[in-house]
Amino acid sequence: MKGPSTEIIHRGEGGSRTAEPLTLPIYETTTFLFESAAEVRAYAEGRSDKFLYSRYANPTVQAVEAKLAVLERAEAAALFGSGMAATSTALLTLLAAGDEVVCSSAIYGGTLRLLADVLPRFGIDARFVRPEDLTDAATLVGPRTKVVWFESPINPTLRCVDVAAVARACREAACVSILDNTFASPVNQQPIALGVDLVMHSATKYLNGHSDVTAGVIAGSAPLVDRVMAMRKVLGAVLDPQAAYALGRGLKTLGVRMTRHNENAMAVARWLQSDKRVVQVFYPGLESHPDHKIARAQMSGFGGMVCLELDGGLDRASRFFDRLQVFQRAASLGGVESLCSLPVLTSHWGHSEERLRQAGVTAGMARLSVGLEDAEDLIADLDQALE
Ligand code: PLP
Repeated sequence: MKGPSTEIIHRGEGGSRTAEPLTLPIYETTTFLFESAAEVRAYAEGRSDKFLYSRYANPTVQAVEAKLAVLERAEAAALFGSGMAATSTALLTLLAAGDEVVCSSAIYGGTLRLLADVLPRFGIDARFVRPEDLTDAATLVGPRTKVVWFESPINPTLRCVDVAAVARACREAACVSILDNTFASPVNQQPIALGVDLVMHSATKYLNGHSDVTAGVIAGSAPLVDRVMAMRKVLGAVLDPQAAYALGRGLKTLGVRMTRHNENAMAVARWLQSDKRVVQVFYPGLESHPDHKIARAQMSGFGGMVCLELDGGLDRASRFFDRLQVFQRAASLGGVESLCSLPVLTSHWGHSEERLRQAGVTAGMARLSVGLEDAEDLIADLDQALE
């Protein structure tokens, strides 16, 4: 890629030298130099490709955004300081008082809180619909609906929604569809090609892949992403260039990592399914999964997330959790190390019984983020933890 990613110009005491680094330079600067008032004016009037201030745009961040746009087959992408920063900035761009946002009732807990508890304070109503009702064009979009927000696969049940059908219903009603593609990754699922308007990722997860960067991304058409970027400038939810560099480095191995995540998770899911001590296994790659057909039609791999349910509620799930040795006990997902979390104590902590029921979450569930270790080691660990 030409441009800011490969060309660095350093103006120092020794004059001007140019270099073409192989890797992405980190522009660790808050502001950028101009030669003259005429140059500043050209920037202000939109006649210049210079940078002004890193909250507006930064070459390192912009280079990674360009890569993410290519990965998502989108015209443009915008990076943020977290997945929730991407979500809140996108929603505040597209919604105003009096509008309605329709959301799948089974959704990441933070997104649910934003929609159910925060946006209503600003006169924006959230209407929650069951994932299976998202494809019902007749009831999905009402007169005040401006945005439909959904996930597929859904955390932690890995239920899948017919993405193309939701996108079609939204398009017919001139309402913006946004899919949280975090669990699938762009390697396994390409929502823009399925007709979705905007894709959101917690880049904290698979995109970075090493559990050492918190970031978020919105990708889609250039006009929509431009509007989101303009709001980002005001809200200030930007990504630091250092973090953007680390994310860009993670992206270099996304393809090979996802291949291994897919293989390991499938091996783990098949083994768990064959074990009598496990009540239920949730993995979209299993023929027994209720949405296997949809997943097979719209995904090229089924991802690294597996959820299992044990008899005996939280006590039993906690005993299993405490005994794990290779899987580490931690929230989050999508990194090279395998992790286990208990949804009712983490992503769905404090949710009412009714909300848990709607999300299909039970106290006996353990969620696995299957990493890149040897599948035999992971299975041996699960075997001993289930004792
Ligand atoms: N979406 C999903 C599916 C998530 O799992 C998460 C975080 O766990 C988020 C969004 C929020 O992302 P972040 O933690 O980067 O703000």
